[in-house]
Amino acid sequence: KKAQIGVIGLAVMGKNLALNIESRGFTVGVYNRHRNRTDEMMRDHSDKKLVPSYTLEDFVNSLEKPRRILMMVKAGAGTDAVIDQLLPLLDKGDVLIDGGNTNFHDTMARNAKLDKSGINFIGMGVSGGELGALHGPALMPGGQKEAYDLVAPILTQIAAKAKDGKPCVTYIGPNGAGHYVKMIHNGIEYGDEELIDESYNIMRNVLGLSVPEMADIFAEWNKGELDSYLIEITADILSRQDDLGSGKPIVDMILDRGANKGTGKWSSETALDGGAPQSVITEAVYARYISMMKKERVAASKVLPEDVEKVNLTDEEKQEYIEKIRQALYFGKVMSYAQGFEQMRIDGQRYDWNLKFGELAQIWREGCIIRAQFLQKITDAFAKNPDLDNLLLDDYFKEIAGKYQKAIREVVAMSIKAGIPVPAFAAAINYYDSYRAEVLPANLLQAQRDYFGAHTYERTDRKGNFHYSWYEEQ
Ligand code: NDP
Repeated sequence: KKAQIGVIGLAVMGKNLALNIESRGFTVGVYNRHRNRTDEMMRDHSDKKLVPSYTLEDFVNSLEKPRRILMMVKAGAGTDAVIDQLLPLLDKGDVLIDGGNTNFHDTMARNAKLDKSGINFIGMGVSGGELGALHGPALMPGGQKEAYDLVAPILTQIAAKAKDGKPCVTYIGPNGAGHYVKMIHNGIEYGDEELIDESYNIMRNVLGLSVPEMADIFAEWNKGELDSYLIEITADILSRQDDLGSGKPIVDMILDRGANKGTGKWSSETALDGGAPQSVITEAVYARYISMMKKERVAASKVLPEDVEKVNLTDEEKQEYIEKIRQALYFGKVMSYAQGFEQMRIDGQRYDWNLKFGELAQIWREGCIIRAQFLQKITDAFAKNPDLDNLLLDDYFKEIAGKYQKAIREVVAMSIKAGIPVPAFAAAINYYDSYRAEVLPANLLQAQRDYFGAHTYERTDRKGNFHYSWYEEQ
């Protein structure tokens, strides 16, 4: 019997996705460049409906037609290498899925190239890490709609299920739309993490709370409107002791250098390209970059002068501040998602993808790293108004912005006075104040541009482009 789908690349993600697919009753062909991973998988799972192959020719022949192939290989050169080897072996109508963390520009190019040979190409974002892959990830497939329909019966079964039973997968749009949306997901994830990390830093270094106290606070926050995977794991992390015997909380033993694999950077680059003001996520990327400069920071900490206000709060005031930080965090999250969805609106138009924003929030409710109760509110907002320009204009988000802005203003001001950096919090409130500003100082900017470069300016009282004679006496 031929396999119904094949998986190429049996490292942690490919192996777990193959096992997930098999567990839903499908026969799965499996192949890996070096046979050791295939052998290991067959040894550990000899009872499963897996069909191993050791050459790409045998693998392709082991699949029923039209073939459905999921690649889970290293993004970039690895993906190109596999596509080039596969191409001569495939037939028109076959569906090739790239489930790696691929840049959406690459996916657009590959989709166009393969389309010429009649091969369908789906670029699919996969979120949820290795456990998500095994038990139910969030899936973001983009490519030919007919090709999606051929793989949808499998994808809907392996995807995570939200509380209302809906699978966390939907057809995102043509060519690079799936990988694009996964990139935005990752950018939003950077923003969420940075906002949480700043909250921790304020509680720790302005309020002077201990690690166990903060573990309890995050656990408490997770019961309310902040309920989400990232808050949940933060509470858990802060409750853990070092496993190498220092007797300290593990966070205190972890070096403060924040690494990244580039998807947040792609998200910010794309925002700059498209003219989307995505400052919260971009500050999160910068925060990781400056954290990596540990040596420089240590040296600077010894020489750069400090003139800050010491914050001395009573226990009662501290409790009030904890609630203010919670509100600031939620406000920041709302701004970050408003920016992320605004960016998707701008880019969706730019690339003609017809993105369904409500569905995007819907498939992020489970399986992926940013899963949260909050996403239901976004789905609801777009259900009410699919053409919503900005989430902030929805009643629910407008109300949150109204209620919580006082808290974030206070928290940001206090942190800055105390010398504790809050770049994402500050970006959030600045975005809010800029977005709702009827007048910004860009009038002066236009005058400057016209002055030095004769770039012209528009007027408030009549149409057209004007140039002022800056160099003549009036
Ligand atoms: P890796 O990204 O570490 O990739 C290893 C796999 O790629 C191996 O199967 C390897 O084969 C194969 N490979 C690399 N180069 C080539 C090549 N030139 N030709 C053929 N095969 C090649 O594995 P992961 O499982 O971590 O990730 C797979 C993909 O999924 C990546 O694109 C990753 O970005 C993405 N992803 C990962 C997540 C995670 O949490 N890890 C989450 C979501 C997506 P060999 O064994 O022969 O070296």
